[in-house]
Amino acid sequence: MQREPRQSSNPPTRDPEAGIAHSGRVGVLGAGQLGRMLALSGHALGLELVFLDPAPDAPAGQLAPQIVASYTDSQALEWLAASDVVTYEFESVPVVAAEALEVRARVAPPSKALRVAQDRLSEKECFRELGIPTPDFFAVSSEAELRAGVAELGYPCVLKTRRLGYDGKGQRVLRSAEQAALAFAELGASPLILERFIEFERELSLIAVRSRGGETAFYPLVENHHRDGILRLTRAPAPGLTAELQTLVEGYVRRLMERLEYVGVLALELFERHGELIANELAPRVHNSGHFSIEGAETSQFENHLRAVMGWPLGSTAVPEPCAMLNCVGQMPSTEEVLRVPGAHLHAYGKSPRPGRKLGHVTLTGASELEARIATLSAMPGTG
Ligand code: AMP
Repeated sequence: MQREPRQSSNPPTRDPEAGIAHSGRVGVLGAGQLGRMLALSGHALGLELVFLDPAPDAPAGQLAPQIVASYTDSQALEWLAASDVVTYEFESVPVVAAEALEVRARVAPPSKALRVAQDRLSEKECFRELGIPTPDFFAVSSEAELRAGVAELGYPCVLKTRRLGYDGKGQRVLRSAEQAALAFAELGASPLILERFIEFERELSLIAVRSRGGETAFYPLVENHHRDGILRLTRAPAPGLTAELQTLVEGYVRRLMERLEYVGVLALELFERHGELIANELAPRVHNSGHFSIEGAETSQFENHLRAVMGWPLGSTAVPEPCAMLNCVGQMPSTEEVLRVPGAHLHAYGKSPRPGRKLGHVTLTGASELEARIATLSAMPGTG
């Protein structure tokens, strides 16, 4: 269903249909699948969610009011500012939009979290300042700086654009001077960062939430598997997770959230190598590796994000039994076949198929024969 851009002078009203009482209104920048899952969770809490996204066919706009306009449209921001709180589900929204909203409305997480997370350099500098291990890195804006960085780090190393990289886009692993020159020719128009290549054993992430009053809660660390830079499978909790590892990362994330005066859900992605954890990236929002929490945790990351930004008590992050989440990428598997798998919960995002596009996910709950059920799903088109 496509919505016409809202161009009238009437903003989305608090009670669009007379008689509907809401427990509050949340404005959201971005209306992708994360917004859609926030909307589903918000409805259960009696919240009204209103989205702003320039894409007329955005997944959240199929379920909730969406203002179709650019993120810097002043009228659209005015409408969003009439919410109890404004949040975001997309970290590449212009920081100026969040700052403009902050003058008029409560915004959570704060714009400074967005500013730090949007630039891989400031993100890694923040990790370093807080004593959070991160790969050695150098800012690169010329071929001479690239050569100097490579001389320090050696091959292989990783060259990334500082901004707007996601799902492995805007980055190259460099293994030779030829590859370095080629990568610089491709990416060098943007400011870059060169990182040490980490020979990790596995990738993990921690989803955390912080309330307005500074209360924190942490989901168990999860194990993530990527292909072509795109998350395919999450196991929750990460197999073999120890209390020591969990406590170590919780300490890192608590420091980060305090530094950023954070309110809402945040994800930290890490590499594990010889029992050491090295922070790669932070996401100032709900995160793909936290989707398991919808059915797998006592409170989902979406509900906890809304609880936090609304100033409500946080919910339990306990994961009673091991579970898994598989992304549907490029195409959706057959609904019937997925639902035949015991403990499978299908989520379709209402997006048209395109290679490499995340279209949905499947969560597998219940510890019994979990690996066998992961294998069954992995053999299906889209979830493989
Ligand atoms: P990113 O966009 O930074 O999350 O990177 C996407 C994926 O590339 C990560 O999930 C890793 O699999 C890989 N990667 C990124 N940075 C490094 C690094 N410094 N060393 C090894 N692999 C990396």
